[in-house]
Formats: sequence, C-alpha cells, structure tokens
Amino acid sequence: MDNVCKLDPVAPDAEIIAKAARIIKRGGTVAFPTETVYGLGANALDDQACKEIFVAKGRQQDNPIIVHVSDFEQIENVTCGLPENTKEVFERIWPGPLTVVLKKKNIGEVPTAGLNTVAIRMPAHRIPLELIRKSGVPIAAPSANKSGSPSPVYAQEVIEDLGDKVDLILDGGPSYFGVESTVIMFKGEEIIMLRPGAFSAEDLKRIFGVKVKFSGQTSGVPISPGMKYRHYAPEKELVLARTEEKILEACKKGNVLFIGSSEMARKVNSDSIVLGSRDDLFEVARNLFPSFRKLDKSPYPMGVIEGFEEKGIGLAIMNRIVKATSGREA
Ligand code: AMP
Ligand code: MG
Repeated sequence: MDNVCKLDPVAPDAEIIAKAARIIKRGGTVAFPTETVYGLGANALDDQACKEIFVAKGRQQDNPIIVHVSDFEQIENVTCGLPENTKEVFERIWPGPLTVVLKKKNIGEVPTAGLNTVAIRMPAHRIPLELIRKSGVPIAAPSANKSGSPSPVYAQEVIEDLGDKVDLILDGGPSYFGVESTVIMFKGEEIIMLRPGAFSAEDLKRIFGVKVKFSGQTSGVPISPGMKYRHYAPEKELVLARTEEKILEACKKGNVLFIGSSEMARKVNSDSIVLGSRDDLFEVARNLFPSFRKLDKSPYPMGVIEGFEEKGIGLAIMNRIVKATSGREA
C-alpha cells in the first residue's frame, strides 16, 4: 500500500517524520507505533481532524480519546495542571504507559467527548515523540483498530483494519507491551484506576505512595466512558478456562483452538497458540491481542483461553481476556 512507510523505531528518518507532521498539521490522520499498541493520531486541537479518527475506527462519539504529549509544557496548555505535588513523580514515570485524567482547558469537545476532563499520556517511543514535536501540537490517538477489535501490535494489523481509511501508517515494528496504557485519575488522597494496563497497580502504589482502587464504575455511572463498550474481542467465540482441569476438559470436546501458556500447551492435545511462559507475563501480554486475530483466521469455530495470575501486567491481561470472552467461562 502506498500510504505505509517503514521507519526505524530507534532512529526514525527525519523526512518521513516531517511528512507525517505535515499530514497532522493539515488535519489528517497518521497511525504510528507506541510502546503499548499502535495508535491512530490526529491534531488534538482540531475538532474536525479528531472527527476523522471516530469515522475511520467506527468509534462511538461519547468515547473520549487519550491526548499524547511530548513535554510538560503541552500539558499546561490543555489542562488545569497535574495534581499538587505529583509533577516530580510524573517526571520519573513519563514517558511511559500511564495515562492520567485531568481537568481540561483550551481543548475541544471531540477528543474529550464533551467531558470537562482530558486523558493525557507521554508515550515512551521515539516515533510518536518526534511526530508530536515536529507537528508542534498534542496528538489525540486511540488504538489503531476497528472499534471493538483487538488493539494492533503490528503495523500489518493496522493495515488490515484501517488501511484505506487513514492518510499514513508508520510501520515501526511491533509494539513492546501489547496492551494499552493504564488509565488513572486522582480523587482526594486516592488513585482510581479506570483501566488496568501496561503500568502495574503495584508500581502505582509504590511510586505514588497512595491507595489505588480499581474501579471503572462509581454508583452505576461509568467514569471512563470507554469501559462500557464491548472490546478487544475476536469474531469467533472465546471462553475463559481458569484451571488446568477446566482447560483439559474444554479441549477434550474437540474442534477448539487452545490459547495459553507454553506449560499448558504441552498438556492439551488440541492445536494451540502459545502466548508465552506463565513466568513471563510480558511475553504473554505481547502475544495476547495477535492471538485473537489468529483465532479468527484459523479453521476453528471457537477458542479456549487460559487464565493468568493477576499480578503486575497480569491484571491488564485478565481484564482484556474477560472483555474478549464477554465473561464466558468454561
Ligand atoms: P483507547 O484510546 O481507545 O485505547 O481508550 C482510551 C480509554 O481512556 C477509554 O477507556 C476512555 O474511556 C478513557 N478516557 C479517555 N479520556 C477520558 C476522560 N477524559 N475521562 C475518563 N476516561 C477517559
Ligand atoms: Mg482502544
């Protein structure tokens, strides 16, 4: 496809970045890798440009988009500031896979879906950082997949989902984490985790030294609108099996594809997609979303997926699995 450019993720070609920045400045859309998953970006200060993101993805209008920045000055421009005494901590964490919801200022209704807050993140990847710097504006970017589909870890997956619907796709190789950023907001002395992600709850607690609550809901109203939508799901049926016994039983029925750890794949006698060792949840996370796409392309009508320990990035892994299976368990 002629709207795809390969880029070195460590030393991206300045001319290609300049070309992508021109597209952003004139109101177009550019897909790019980040350390979490691929994002589909547009000028966050241009409502019309942000609308293009919603159209390309088929995203619901009431689901706000994370705004990506390359420095702290940009945060001052579009928010009423970080909570008191947290700037030093954010300077240590960012760039990184943590998103914080802040009171907004000077930013339109489209990327924020009409809320009075904006979600901000500084990505730890040279390609978006240089693109934001060169464009001179913050870039609003949700994951670069069709709405509801698994987030893309490879440029090829972006091409399959959105190939002809975006102006440019920067192919910088696979994303490192394979799950999205952790989304938080501050409430009094506490941190509320709206979405678990690549930045672990344990690290949040340790670094900020406050209580961390995991809650997408308070009194029945979702505070993070995106949490109410069906997400990350393969088209085929997928069920979660939490124990070895349940996995073996579900696989014995036949005509199912097993998705899980290398340890378990050795024990089942059905075809498998190996996510990685149970001892390396980062590897499991990286292979998770691509495995949903592989299930859809396989000849099997359904998949059985293993449950993982909810520690570290495991909490994000299990959150995505539960959403992908719509809560169905073997
Ligand atoms: P995505 O970029 O599609 O991977 O998802 C972004 C997530 O951040 C969604 O769950 C959104 O609902 C959430 N989000 C973005 N902006 C806000 C905001 N201002 N307040 C609360 N949640 C937000
Ligand atoms: Mg998404």
